[in-house]
Amino acid sequence: MTRPRILVVGAGFAGVACVRRLERRLSPDEAEIALVTPQSYQLYLPLLPQVASGVLTPQSVALSLRRSEKYRTRIIPGRAVGVDPKAKVCVVRTITDRVVDEPYDYIVLAPGSITRTFDIPGLTDHAFGLKTLAEAAYIRDHVITQLDLADASDDPAERAARLQFVVVGGGYAGTETAACLQRLTHAAVKRYPRIDPSLIKWHLIDIAPRLMPELGERLGRAAQDDLRRRGIEISLGVSIAKAGPEEVTFTNGRVVPTHTLIWTAGVVASPLVSTLGAETVKGRLAVTAEMCVPGFDGVFALGDSAAVPDLAKGDGAVCPPTAQHAMRQGKRVAENVIAALRNQPMRPYEHRDLGLVVDLGGADAVAKPLGVELHGVAAQAVARGYHLAAMRTHVAKTRVMTNWMLNALAGDDFVRTGFQARRPTRLKDFEDTDVYLSPEEVRRHVERAAAGPAA
Ligand SMILES: Cc1cc2nc3c(=O)[nH]c(=O)nc-3n(C[C@H](O)[C@H](O)[C@H](O)COP(=O)(O)OP(=O)(O)OC[C@H]3O[C@@H](n4cnc5c(N)ncnc54)[C@H](O)[C@@H]3O)c2cc1C
Repeated sequence: MTRPRILVVGAGFAGVACVRRLERRLSPDEAEIALVTPQSYQLYLPLLPQVASGVLTPQSVALSLRRSEKYRTRIIPGRAVGVDPKAKVCVVRTITDRVVDEPYDYIVLAPGSITRTFDIPGLTDHAFGLKTLAEAAYIRDHVITQLDLADASDDPAERAARLQFVVVGGGYAGTETAACLQRLTHAAVKRYPRIDPSLIKWHLIDIAPRLMPELGERLGRAAQDDLRRRGIEISLGVSIAKAGPEEVTFTNGRVVPTHTLIWTAGVVASPLVSTLGAETVKGRLAVTAEMCVPGFDGVFALGDSAAVPDLAKGDGAVCPPTAQHAMRQGKRVAENVIAALRNQPMRPYEHRDLGLVVDLGGADAVAKPLGVELHGVAAQAVARGYHLAAMRTHVAKTRVMTNWMLNALAGDDFVRTGFQARRPTRLKDFEDTDVYLSPEEVRRHVERAAAGPAA
């Protein structure tokens, strides 16, 4: 007898938590588990700004998928590019560009999100996002490259442009990114005696009137004061009107000469979501509190890619796209898949938000664990303790702790690796956003494949 097949798409916070729970709770005879993922690791995204700024090595936030006592999942190295929920087939483009069909009985969609962009001239060609390990490593190299080139140049205009950096997005991801990278250039400039430190300028801009509104007025202002004290120029109520290779124009008309535009102005669900032809809520798949996609048998969705009702908040709210929710939803969805498999009732997902931690580098941090407002060293301790607790493997925790200690004691050497110097650097190249099929293409592909090679 063939075993039912559970296919999990995406090895992020949600997908990995789901797979680990399935491996623990299901006997190998009960079901076959497969995981579609382009990478062989789970990326610990909240520490990405620290990779971009060189405090952590890229490997320390890339958690192995195979380091687990109960590991037995079949890992399919590729990207799901479409799902046909009627035929119960997921179309996968492998990492060698082969297109294969993966049939399933239950599918758990956890492909996360991509950088949200707008129709701003030049944006997608000239901005970097911060959603992948490659982007973080690239940004670090790029920033050090600007220092190297400014140092070598005798042209004052070129120097000024290379030493200005613009970060768009005053949420926690953008604020942490600007703060951590400013620390990088602030420390690095001591090794560049030809560069006048006052020429280095970081701009953090956001269309909203406040930084990190989710932290509340007092903590948001405290973070803002920390950043301004460190020389970061914050412009609120402002966005980008135009981006070019050597300058960025703000919506207030200001033109900033720069070679560095980092775009962290929010996320939108993975394009995989739209291949199903299912209902969406602001781009995320509409799901029930049990994380089932209504009207689609055996389809579950969660994490950043799904609008999971936030029962703890009520009032029709949906869970925010955070790792905190994604991890917990992963465990609950695994239990619900098992319940479906065993013909038992499913349970809704419910979790009261534990708050937020924001590491601004050094001793600067703000945090709001369980509603308690913290600032400075206490917030820093909570932030670091939280990340260590949330990391899945002991070896990853140890790597991160060792990196933090080494960085605090010995600092950084600010070397450019050059590994990615010649690769395309647009958002879509890093995030592979142009590989997805339309619902019609998925259906046609699956029909052709079912009809056999002669069709
Ligand atoms: C810079 C930054 C800082 C953050 N800080 C925090 C924080 O402090 N606290 C917090 O709670 N949250 C934080 N977040 C948000 C948090 O990281 C996300 O909410 C969380 O990662 C969502 O989990 P997920 O499993 O839905 O998606 P992800 O963790 O993004 O995982 C999705 C996975 O699916 C893979 N994938 C994508 N498309 C496909 C496909 N088509 N087929 C197969 N696999 C696919 C991706 O490669 C990825 O591995 C931060 C995010 C960023 C970018």
